[in-house]
Amino acid sequence: MSEVALDHVTKRFDSTTAVDDVSLTIADGEVLGVVGPSGCGKTTTLRLVAGFETATDGAIRYDGDDVTHAPPENRNVGLVFQSYALFDNMSVLGNVTFGPKMHGVGKTERRERAFELLELLDIAELADRDPRTLSGGQQQRVGLARALAIEPRILLLDEPMTGLDAKLKQSLRTELGELLDDLGVTTLYVTHDQEQAMAMCDRIAVMNDGVVEQVGSPADVYESPANEFVANFVGTSNVLSGSVRGGRVDFGFAAIEAPDLPAREDANLAVRPADFTVGSGPISGEVRNVFYLGGTVQAVAALDGGPEVTVALDGDGSGISKGDRLDLGLDASDLHLVNE
Ligand code: ATP
Repeated sequence: MSEVALDHVTKRFDSTTAVDDVSLTIADGEVLGVVGPSGCGKTTTLRLVAGFETATDGAIRYDGDDVTHAPPENRNVGLVFQSYALFDNMSVLGNVTFGPKMHGVGKTERRERAFELLELLDIAELADRDPRTLSGGQQQRVGLARALAIEPRILLLDEPMTGLDAKLKQSLRTELGELLDDLGVTTLYVTHDQEQAMAMCDRIAVMNDGVVEQVGSPADVYESPANEFVANFVGTSNVLSGSVRGGRVDFGFAAIEAPDLPAREDANLAVRPADFTVGSGPISGEVRNVFYLGGTVQAVAALDGGPEVTVALDGDGSGISKGDRLDLGLDASDLHLVNE
């Protein structure tokens, strides 16, 4: 396994700057997620690490070795792409032993290695099957076994769960997260699904428009977003504007004590829906809508003299419905300054 470093990497395609001066380090054995909206440069970043694209500027290093101009075949990376179909003229075992065979590994050893991985992934009984007859989840595991069989320096996963149903995704992400932890394989995991990344990765890099906006543990990025983009992308946030003076923040529609916030007139403060206390407090509004999101219930409330906010409701929604009055409390420790 290896440490992978991107050092001021830029990739331009004609007039598009897909990756703009990105510096990132993936520690040996770490799982780093790259998340961001469509077109933000995630796949290009992964392709640069794999060697399918060459950086316009900057350097990529594996354990300090400069691989910026090395072709993919000299980088020893394991790849799992959603569209990276399995070879369907070969059995599952054939798929998994293919890479090692190309690398000159002898028959007995490559079969042993393949069975070890198939057992680890709990699909040994599928060894003789034609991949076309497997379910999406089974195919994904075969894809992973195939990528790991070459004992890669780094594992690259690009949206490996797209197309799988929600339930399977959830069980696979727990499984895959644990497996990657056990294997200690350095992994770059690219997805637009921030929930998936939060559940599986040691750290997350949030990209927007070619730039890395924030890198940190899932908890850091969620609880202390560096700016408004991150606050909105990683979970829904409300962004309230107010002025902070003398240890107090005044939103116009309400004011609360905030001894730790730095004084400024134009503060933009992000608040998670779950951080409002529902039932009492200095903020009042009217419920405009209540909606159910598998397991949680949220209300959109129009604050008196203020904006609309999204509020998480307890349990089944506590009988709150459209048109009801709502009192809300807010703790200053749940306010995150997101001004640029
Ligand atoms: P998605 O989630 O939709 O896959 P992404 O974050 O992976 O998006 P990229 O595929 O990295 O984004 O694309 C970043 C930008 O670079 C986009 O504007 C895209 O159109 C552009 N781009 C990517 N590859 C090429 C290419 N080969 N030629 C020209 N422009 C490209």
